[in-house]
Amino acid sequence: MRIDIATLFPEMCEKVFNESIVGRGIRNGYIEIYAHNIRDYTLNKHKNVDDKPFGGGTGMVMQAQPIYDCVKAIMSMHKTPPRVIYLSPQGKTLTQEKVRELAKESGLVLICGHYEGIDERVIEELGAEEISIGDYVLTGGELPALILTDAVARLQEGVLPNEDAYSIESHYDGLLEYPQYSRPEIWKERKVPEILLSGDHRQVVEWQRKKSLEVTRKKRPDLYEAYIKRLTECFIGEFKAGYDVTENAKFKFCALSDEDLKLVKRGKKREIELDGKEGEYVILTDDTDIPKFVVIITGKNGQNVKFRLIYKSKKEENND
Ligand code: SAM
Repeated sequence: MRIDIATLFPEMCEKVFNESIVGRGIRNGYIEIYAHNIRDYTLNKHKNVDDKPFGGGTGMVMQAQPIYDCVKAIMSMHKTPPRVIYLSPQGKTLTQEKVRELAKESGLVLICGHYEGIDERVIEELGAEEISIGDYVLTGGELPALILTDAVARLQEGVLPNEDAYSIESHYDGLLEYPQYSRPEIWKERKVPEILLSGDHRQVVEWQRKKSLEVTRKKRPDLYEAYIKRLTECFIGEFKAGYDVTENAKFKFCALSDEDLKLVKRGKKREIELDGKEGEYVILTDDTDIPKFVVIITGKNGQNVKFRLIYKSKKEENND
């Protein structure tokens, strides 16, 4: 992949992307990153690249011509047309999902604005996509371009040691990462969780998964809600694919403790307190809302409904 940054401050960018992991990725030939000075492309004899805004107002606006000519020159250096992006506080906010999408491109051209921004017509003429790094305003697009470059570069093959290095990290699958610890085992009387020292890989992975869910639920309830929604849709889709059920079938939900879920699985628990009618489907979740089983109501018993287990999540099936 090749990334080109069009900027008035190429040295500022080079200093950052030539360092550390990304710098090593460049030197080892896994990614190419270049910074170009927009000023080199101005036709103005005084080398000016900005002017006062029409209609008045404070500050200066970067003119269209030098940016356009700089980007066109960069585009001619790419074998296939690169994706052109203008880093802008008015763009869609950058997410890991977007980073993954951009990482698949063969080339990106990143335009950095400065001062009051850039002439609107150059964005239109280049058909540039606008991307923001958050709802706040910086003095220039260099830091946003470097953030995008770093996030995209680390997903290129060879830049990180292996896929695990990023696939377990926050946001990769919609969750935040579990807490990490390193030596010493005890620091300021705080101990590393025992399980991480046990050497039992299966248990460690189970703990990490549980913590990842816990941390996301606590720190980013918005992400957790979206994650559970996706998981539940997928669970219902898999259930419907293997079970003769009408397309618009409705589901009730009921959260149970891990202990009760085990009893349901073993056929030892066949009733729950729930308001429902015979023939209705109920998704039994654990206490973190993760769907585990589908049961069908078979009758009533006072405040309780009786049910029959008809579907287990893939994970539960594999644990049998
Ligand atoms: N006048 C512009 C506005 O209100 O939308 C803001 C211009 S800002 C001071 C100067 C440049 O910094 C922009 O052209 C853009 O390239 C960059 N910039 C500032 N904040 C940014 C953000 N949150 N995300 C991406 N780029 C940003």
